[in-house]
Formats: sequence, structure tokens, C-alpha cells
Amino acid sequence: MSTLTHLECSAACGAPLLDPDRVQHLCSCGAPLLARYDLAAAANRWTRESLRDRPPTMWRYREALPPFDGAGPVTLGEGFTPLAHARRLGAAVGMDRLYIKDESDNPTNSFKARGMSAAVTVARRLGATTVSVPSAGNAANAAAAYAAHAGLAAKVFMPRDVKTPFIRECELYGAEVTLVDGLITDAGRAAAEAGAPRGWYDVSTLKEPYRVEGKKTMAYEIAEQLGWEWPDWMIYPTGGGTGIVGMWKACAELEALGWMPAGTRRPRMVSVQAEGCAPIVRAFRDGDERATPWENARTSADGLRVPRAIGDFLILRALRDSGGTAVAVSDADMIAAMREIGAAEGISAAPEGGATLVALRALLDRGTIAPADRVVLFNTGGALKYLDLLGI
Ligand SMILES: *Cc1c(COP(=O)(O)O)cnc(C)c1O
Repeated sequence: MSTLTHLECSAACGAPLLDPDRVQHLCSCGAPLLARYDLAAAANRWTRESLRDRPPTMWRYREALPPFDGAGPVTLGEGFTPLAHARRLGAAVGMDRLYIKDESDNPTNSFKARGMSAAVTVARRLGATTVSVPSAGNAANAAAAYAAHAGLAAKVFMPRDVKTPFIRECELYGAEVTLVDGLITDAGRAAAEAGAPRGWYDVSTLKEPYRVEGKKTMAYEIAEQLGWEWPDWMIYPTGGGTGIVGMWKACAELEALGWMPAGTRRPRMVSVQAEGCAPIVRAFRDGDERATPWENARTSADGLRVPRAIGDFLILRALRDSGGTAVAVSDADMIAAMREIGAAEGISAAPEGGATLVALRALLDRGTIAPADRVVLFNTGGALKYLDLLGI
């Protein structure tokens, strides 16, 4: 069972620890909250071997996930996605040990399923009847599906120029869709204005503490799938940053559980962003602790069109503490890389997934990554909702 004990301010502002049996969103200082577990106690009775008999979903790590009500977690089978050894793509870039974590295999076709499974599980346990979310597309689809599965209402807010498949899929799951002029940040404002007076449970990126918990399971899985070793590098397309923040948190948790052999070096984390919206890349380069909002954010990789991330300081800290870096890539290169991943590996890649291959090449060219290194690329979603990009 879950060993969740409390919620803690991620900015260490000194606010008291918070009770996870009550609805909690942000710390009183405005920073995201992070979930903390009694991993020392868990380590005494939770073993790597115990995983063998567990279902192949992210809930196999339930001791390190939030608790659920009597009906169990709200699950559609998310997680435990393939870690494909990309031999043909590896050969094309001169590497033997290139892997793709294929998150297109999740319900609703993206890794947003993991975060929403965790967040909606908690929302239902704490008595929510309506969840709301601003989204560039994939988060809305996942929120709509998990809310439907949990018997909750979903209200989603997306930029007006979102691709049609994202709208139709939300409607398919019975969600109420509001299209907002502007970017995801404007959609966030609209969602908060509509939801606050009505008591909707807000599942915005990092504004509730459990989407990070769901996404961190990608790192638990990679460790398990590689036989309790880390890759040298993880290359991750970064928007709001829940994936990077969650996986860096998972590295510490797996050490606390005693599951990674002593002396194992954590992976170096790489954030990939689009040239037309790269606030984290710029802040990393400039040595800043926080990122300045990006003006006129433009990219066809919707998941990366996030001009301002509430957890920017957590992303930057993970990149620096891990010895990683941040890279911006062009939309044209991402789209070419979608085709290359598809043709070489039979994997359906979103532009965000394509972006990781472009970043890998750049880092090999610079000598930052060595051809003998073990590298994991994250294909965070599938190509099917982005087919318009491939028709031009
Ligand atoms: C949301 C999204 C991202 C960005 O993820 P974060 O963890 O919020 O940084 C990347 N790729 C796809 C396909 C997405 O939907």
C-alpha cells in the first residue's frame, strides 16, 4: 500500500508540511508541492522481486504512489510501456546502446495518461465531482478519459488553434471543451476563472502534486527494464516539466529504497525544447534559476508550446544537478525526425518525440554525448494526432 506521508513545498519556503488526506494544490508561497513517502519503512518490506507478480501498469509501484479509495486506482492500463532497443536508428547515429521509451503505447496515445491516472485517482478519493485542466491537447485528452472512467465530469480549456483530433477526442470522452484565444497560459487563466467559484478540482501541470507522481514512474520502469541500471543520458522533450521533475525525484526515491546498486551514477537529464519556445534552454544557458517567459511562443509541437512553467526552477535544478543540459531544435528537424523514427523502428512518434532524436544528434556532434554512451529518448506521444504535419 501507499507509504505517502505528507506534502512539502518544493521551494523549501519553510511552510508547514501538508496533509495529503485533504485537497492541496500549491504551497501558500505559490510553489508546487511535492509528495513525500516513508521510503525507509517501505524499503524493509518492498523488494524489487515483489514486482514480478504485479500488473504491467504504473501502479506496480503503488507503495510510491498516492493512496486510492476502495474502488482502486483510476486506471486504463497506463505505464509499463516498451523500452525499445533502437538498433537501426542507433546504427544511423553510430550508437549501439540507443533506446526509445515509447509512451505512445499509453491510453490516449501519450504519457499524459500516467499523470492523469494519479491525479484523478486522488481527486476521486478526496470527493471531487468535476476536474478541470488547461492543455495544449494531450493533457486534455487524458484528463477527459480518466475523468470519464472515474465517473467525474471534465472541463478542458485549450488554445483555439489546437489540432482538431485533440478536440474531438475530448468530446468522445464526454468532456466539455472551451477554446481560448492565446496560448496554454491563457487557457490556464480561463480555467482558473471558471473553476474557482464552482469548486472544480484543478489538475493543471504542477498545480496539484500527483501528475508528477504518475510521470516519475517512467524512471522506475527504465531502471527495472535495464536490470536496475541507469542509462547515461535521458533526453526528454520539456514543456511544463512534470516528466523531468518527476524522473529526477524518482532517482532519489530508488536510491532511498536501496534498489540501485551503491555507486550507481544517476542519469544526466537533457531538456529539449523548440527554437520557437525555449525558455528553459535560455535560462540554462544564462545560468538563471528561473526562466523568463518566452514572447510569441511558436512551434507545431503543441506539448512544447509552454512559454512559462510554474516549476521552471525545479526543471533547471534537475538539469544542473544531474550534469545534463538543454537543447533547442527546429520544427522542420523534428518533423523529419518523426519520419526517421517511424521508418527505422516502426514507432509512431509525435513531433516532441522527434525532437529528442534531433537533440541527440546535436549532442553527439558537440562531443557532449559519446557514441558508446547508453541513451534513452522519450517518445512522449504518437504521431496520429499530428498527421497534418506529415502531409506538407
Ligand atoms: C505535455 C507533453 C510534453 C511536455 O511534457 P512535460 O512533462 O509537461 O514537460 C511533451 N510531449 C508531449 C507529446 C506532450 O503531450
